[in-house]
Amino acid sequence: MSKKVDLDWGALGFSYIKTDFRYISRYKDGKWDDGQLVEDNNLTISEASTSLHYGQQCFEGLKAYRTKDGGIQLFRPDQNAKRMIDSCNRIMMPEFPVDRFIDACVQVVKANEHFVPPYGTGATLYLRPFIIGVGDNLGVKPAPEFIFSVFAVPVGPYFKGGMAPVNFTISEFDRAAPYGTGAAKVGGNYAGSLLAHEKAVERGFADCIYLDPATHTKIEEVGAANFFGITKNNEFITPKSPSILPSITKYSLMHIAENYLKMNVIERDCEIAKIDEFIEAGACGTAAVITPIGGIDYKGNMTVFHSETEVGPVTKKLYDTLCGIQSGDVEAPEGWIVKVQ
Ligand SMILES: *Cc1c(COP(=O)(O)O)cnc(C)c1O
Repeated sequence: MSKKVDLDWGALGFSYIKTDFRYISRYKDGKWDDGQLVEDNNLTISEASTSLHYGQQCFEGLKAYRTKDGGIQLFRPDQNAKRMIDSCNRIMMPEFPVDRFIDACVQVVKANEHFVPPYGTGATLYLRPFIIGVGDNLGVKPAPEFIFSVFAVPVGPYFKGGMAPVNFTISEFDRAAPYGTGAAKVGGNYAGSLLAHEKAVERGFADCIYLDPATHTKIEEVGAANFFGITKNNEFITPKSPSILPSITKYSLMHIAENYLKMNVIERDCEIAKIDEFIEAGACGTAAVITPIGGIDYKGNMTVFHSETEVGPVTKKLYDTLCGIQSGDVEAPEGWIVKVQ
């Protein structure tokens, strides 16, 4: 595809831009159809769709990266496909097969190839797969029909002036219940987080941190990202809980910490009363890879980790290694990269 788009790649934010093609497959009478690329970015669905009333829907987020040699690659799309299956099982939606999920992502990237930002700009092509319950339905029960779709949007580098730490505050709200849907990437978890986010921003923080919903003593999530802390004993620590959304970025950083940086990786409780055990801390997810945490405010007391203005050395190494793998400059562990072209 030789078509060119005129975008200021480095200045792009995280905003919707209509690209040329999206993939759609429909589930009816107990099976998914063959799926196809379409140009229309509007969906027409029944007013009685379960996704509109009962939150029966889930989503994923992953990126396509341009490599130095002009190629394009996806980072661990099988992990997104599997997590989407877990989300579907939790809210009674049909599974979309892993191989078809990856194929749909590849098709969307290829069809929108001219929207994949150039290597070195820090910009990427963000893919948003989702499944929604559709069809005529009134009672609280699974939908009779479903739509799986993937669309693509070019997004800018998360940190425009280079990675910099930001401050967070502990929220008085919960994002998930102990045995609720916190581990599933379902829309309902996010509607409930909007007010908590807004209140944190009003008070001058980048976002809020959620504690465990049962005891409110342990860190669970940083906004819509996972938490990790680094100790002076060369340990990478991250909380373990059934109400945390299992971040693919987090599991990738755990692998890098252990195998590339020779750190001890431990999943265990991160008690808010003991957060000064960390000399560096960060939030991780596909959007920013790592957001270094300058400090955490808890009931008016601020705990600063490495620095409020400078990124810690371990955080920087983790970030550089993972970004290097994603854009093809650092050799990836087997199976992490899917070449699109
Ligand atoms: C998507 C998401 C993450 C990050 O997951 P990645 O796979 O690393 O992008 C973390 N927490 C929540 C609540 C999320 O929705």
